[in-house]
Amino acid sequence: MTSISTTNIYNDAKLNIIYNNSHRAKKVTLKVNQIDRNIRVIVPGHKAFPAAKKFVEKNKVWIAHQLATLPPAQPFEDGGFILFHGEQYLLKHISSPKEFIVDHEARLLNVYSPDNSSFSGRVRRMLISEARAELKRLTVYYANKVCKEIHKVSVRDTATRWGSCITRNGLGNINYSWRLICAPSYVLSYVAAHECAHLVEANHSKDFWDVCSEIYGDVNRPRQWLKHNGPLLYAVGAKI
Ligand SMILES: [Zn+2]
Repeated sequence: MTSISTTNIYNDAKLNIIYNNSHRAKKVTLKVNQIDRNIRVIVPGHKAFPAAKKFVEKNKVWIAHQLATLPPAQPFEDGGFILFHGEQYLLKHISSPKEFIVDHEARLLNVYSPDNSSFSGRVRRMLISEARAELKRLTVYYANKVCKEIHKVSVRDTATRWGSCITRNGLGNINYSWRLICAPSYVLSYVAAHECAHLVEANHSKDFWDVCSEIYGDVNRPRQWLKHNGPLLYAVGAKI
């Protein structure tokens, strides 16, 4: 797959467009990526590039509208605010050698970085580390409730699912999005309970939801939160 990037300005909105040439694609498609806020255009072969560019031109208003409906980006910068545990926390650069200090009372995230250019990466690593610790703890808690054992808990930047679960040799391997650490704690708990319920039922049948409700409680509130606020989680760390 070959890629070409261009930048267009439409109504003051900067559109970063990435054309991906794909021989398997049958037609031109475009999608706004919520994480990097780039526009990805799938082009079915080199010959279709002129048609793809025309297609983008024709859909510029739609693209600008899609970008405008995304929640405001929350870049990782000193003095900026980001969503953490469902609340807005202030990011502060510190010169102490301790990697980071979370101050829940003051809603402050103190993050060390040796210079400005590495601050953003350090904030991201802090969030991943907090997400990993919290999700491991919750996974063990809910796995115990269903009498199952966990082999591995991993945390990534998943684009489509908040969590996924596979069972190998009777042991669970669960993968989560680090962005869940930005959601309220009850949402984080729900996703862990949901994935652990999959250790018993590997589907979304009524039996699965029964297990899920038994170990977690009322699943509607966290499900509604994720449905309505998912884009907020993708705005965390997004560049303006
Ligand atoms: Zn599921």
